Amino acid sequence: MNLAGIDTLAKAPLADGDVFLGGRWLPAADGRTYPVYDPATGEPVRWVSDAGAEDARAALAAAEEAAAGWRATPPRRRSEILHDAFRLMTEHRDTLADLIVRENGKVRRDALAEVGYAAEFFRWFAEEAVRIDSSFADAPGGGFRHIVRRHPVGVSAFVTPWNFPAAMATRKIAPALAAGCPVLLKPAPETPLTALAVAALLAEAGLPDGLLNVLPTDRAPEVVAAWLGDERVRKFSFTGSTATGRILLAQAAAHVVNVTMELGGNAPFVVCADADVDAAVSGAMDAKMRGGGEVCIAANRFYVHASVAAEFTAKLGAAMAAVRSGPGAGEGVGLGPMINRAAVDKIRSLVDDALDRGARIAAQGTAPRGPGFHYPATVLTDVPDEARILHEEVFGPVAPLTTFTDEDEVVARANATVHGLAAYVYSRDVARALRLAERLEAGMVGLNRGLLSDPAAPFGGVKQSGLGREGGREGIEAFLETQYIALDWPTL
Ligand code: ADP
Repeated sequence: MNLAGIDTLAKAPLADGDVFLGGRWLPAADGRTYPVYDPATGEPVRWVSDAGAEDARAALAAAEEAAAGWRATPPRRRSEILHDAFRLMTEHRDTLADLIVRENGKVRRDALAEVGYAAEFFRWFAEEAVRIDSSFADAPGGGFRHIVRRHPVGVSAFVTPWNFPAAMATRKIAPALAAGCPVLLKPAPETPLTALAVAALLAEAGLPDGLLNVLPTDRAPEVVAAWLGDERVRKFSFTGSTATGRILLAQAAAHVVNVTMELGGNAPFVVCADADVDAAVSGAMDAKMRGGGEVCIAANRFYVHASVAAEFTAKLGAAMAAVRSGPGAGEGVGLGPMINRAAVDKIRSLVDDALDRGARIAAQGTAPRGPGFHYPATVLTDVPDEARILHEEVFGPVAPLTTFTDEDEVVARANATVHGLAAYVYSRDVARALRLAERLEAGMVGLNRGLLSDPAAPFGGVKQSGLGREGGREGIEAFLETQYIALDWPTL
């Protein structure tokens, strides 16, 4: 497929197949295909090639073959290719946004924002590619010198989720290529089309064959086990649920593979007594509703100081009740469908559990019964601490509200979770906000902001929300090994 082909991705199957391997588009080795569904209709968008273990091994061989040449390619050249990828992605943002809406369901405005965010990883890591440091120093005891060098870690295998089909791919691909590593990517089965478009963009940007291999598959365990079972894979980066992350971490242990894990969250959103309530409501809408709430850093639990609870509940309720749910491409639609029926069933069961335990629905937007997998924007109040919705990721447009009166109490309740990805704090007192931010066990904190992702900042979690960081200076580190050379050179 050339670049013009990305316009047809959501329509016709690729003539030669959709497995992008060694710079070529191929069918799955055993000829299998599977359907990709449109969550707005529940109907198949199209059937794609379904890669298996044989394709995984062939992709690894192609990556391995390309590794030495890429490692020896000057950083400036690697950077130029990534700059071109940024430019091409920006030029084709409408087509990419349409693809994201088709296979993920999010509203078009969010899809366009995702493409912008995804493209920025190419620009940021194009800039980082030429700033990989080495160092040279005298040994403190004298007698010899230290040379400390950075090497690309090697063939890197990625598994990405369906909630950000473009950005979760580029957040891993861009730093790997910048550092000099070949890439194997297995996108989520629900959203392979955007990943294939990213592959076409990088090929057009001049990326040599074999450096990016994309395997759409409905047989994830088979493909990933083939990679993690081979010692030539030296880096594994995963974004997805904590449950799947645990399984893959165990598999990666077999060959002591260097891992990055971006796992689930359970973000608290704390509104202090001195918060600007209007700003907090606007931030809550961002932190809760972006991508329909199907976001690992989405606000999952709201702790509102009792003195502002009535005002915050009324204003958030009004904003949520005004949200109209429908197809992501629809006019005036503020909330797209959830990814599939299971996602809606999970939200429903968490809301039912909260209602059974005494919570109330304070406000609700509208949602069509079908076609597609819709759930209305919902605000719950009087949610007791033991409700499941405060402990599990709801991954949907539901805001459960509880109140607090004391800072120590809210910190203890917010930290009472195995997760530690994101947290949000609203307060006009910067000293208080910073104190709370430092006490919250979270890898990322939004202070008076509901949007915190930035390609130039380190994204990642503590506790069972993950290992390592993506983006920022840290993002490229994940793809570099340090080598120390002791040089026998006496100091004079
Ligand atoms: P979700 O339930 O939201 O799909 P997962 O964490 O299960 O979240 O999925 C994230 C990614 O992990 C997807 O690309 C999926 O195909 C992949 N995945 C899920 N289970 C496995 C597994 N056992 N082995 C390899 N990959 C897996």
